[in-house]
Amino acid sequence: MKFAVYEVREDEKKMLNTLAERHHLELALTSDPLTPETLSLAEGAQGISTLGQSHMNREMFKAVAEMGIHAYSARCIGVNHVDLKAAKEFGVSVSNASYSPHGVADYTVMLMLMLLRKYKPALWRQQVNDYSLGGLMGRELCHMTVGVVGTGRIGLTVMQNLSGFGCGMLCYDVKENPEAAKLGRYVSLTELYNKSDIITLHTPLLDSTRFMIGEEAIAQMKPDALLVNCARGELMDIRAVIQAIENERIGGVALDVFADEDGIYHHDRRTDIIKNRDMAYLRQFPNVIMTQHMAFYTAEAVDSMVACGIESLLAFNEGKSYPCQIV
Ligand code: NAD
Repeated sequence: MKFAVYEVREDEKKMLNTLAERHHLELALTSDPLTPETLSLAEGAQGISTLGQSHMNREMFKAVAEMGIHAYSARCIGVNHVDLKAAKEFGVSVSNASYSPHGVADYTVMLMLMLLRKYKPALWRQQVNDYSLGGLMGRELCHMTVGVVGTGRIGLTVMQNLSGFGCGMLCYDVKENPEAAKLGRYVSLTELYNKSDIITLHTPLLDSTRFMIGEEAIAQMKPDALLVNCARGELMDIRAVIQAIENERIGGVALDVFADEDGIYHHDRRTDIIKNRDMAYLRQFPNVIMTQHMAFYTAEAVDSMVACGIESLLAFNEGKSYPCQIV
């Protein structure tokens, strides 16, 4: 059986080769996204896999189906780039990927500790032989109350991780999770904002969550509150966050994600003009930690995403369903 695999990153190749051997597959690999120009790679294939840069629109599904291909996998969790209705219309089965919540949950706790222990300015000083302590006094996690917004897979795992630190935990979700309720107390968002020393976001980006951290929410927070966002940049009104940092209305922020990060994060843009002023401005502050949407990025997660991508195509071709099947 042949599958065409697009947008292949170097770090995916080892697992792709393992799966090709294990299942006796011919895998046609390219680092290019799937476009009408690159579709010919899938000639004679029984399945197609991409990451998130390929536009899987109606025209693409029509073309794919006309080639006799009825299995498509996105080797990522988000499927904003996939027209699921069109896939259904042309009889193409679709899957996305899944991976354990531990990578993001561990990273979230790391960012909390980095903020609490002022690791960013400490690191700056190390680079220039400044070993002074002034301004670097931290705070201990066991004395903090952490507010977890969104207690799904990642939010719950963050709470499980935090349970070893001895901190207080408050949580909020539109749907309560009994496991989270054993570790923390469900409260209203207002109470969570009022009482938390650290607030961490783990909701999807929806109409109901877009810009949930804005002026109004920040006004309800403690003056030294720390915000962590490993979910989606657009959960925050970034102008309101910048204002709060400038006015010292909050204690710090750690952001693994940023509004309009597409085309910037995950690329080497060293010699380019980057047009995201908020990103460039916010990055300078000693109490602002920013990383390039990498909380998920572990060897275990990459292997799992590749395995979902290939094994779902196999299952679809054998007429079976797959746990990550969407259409
Ligand atoms: P999940 O679906 O298991 O949990 C999401 C939770 O958010 C659910 O419990 C849901 O009820 C809750 N929720 C939905 N609307 C809400 C609202 N208005 N207010 C409060 N809670 C609400 O998802 P997950 O696997 O825990 O992932 C959470 C998010 O993390 C993802 O949607 C994604 O945006 C982000 N993420 C980021 C990275 C990264 O590398 N930084 C990696 C994976 C996921």
